[in-house]
Amino acid sequence: MSSKRLDSLADYARHKYKLRVDCACGRVVMMDPHDLLAAILARGWKVYSLEGLAMRLKCERCGKRPKRIGPGLGQ
Ligand SMILES: [Zn+2]
Repeated sequence: MSSKRLDSLADYARHKYKLRVDCACGRVVMMDPHDLLAAILARGWKVYSLEGLAMRLKCERCGKRPKRIGPGLGQ
């Protein structure tokens, strides 16, 4: 890992990282931070931290909240 700070979606967007969302059921989704920011704005969420985002995301397969949110390696 590098020393880049990835505390918010804006950081991910700035560093061109994807957001990797892991669910306990094994589902892994790579999300584009720009798409997520647009979705957050569209829904009117006041969410800027990754923790806050994790509380709002649900797995499309099992409906649970993400087990882990972090930088996606590669594209
Ligand atoms: Zn799941």
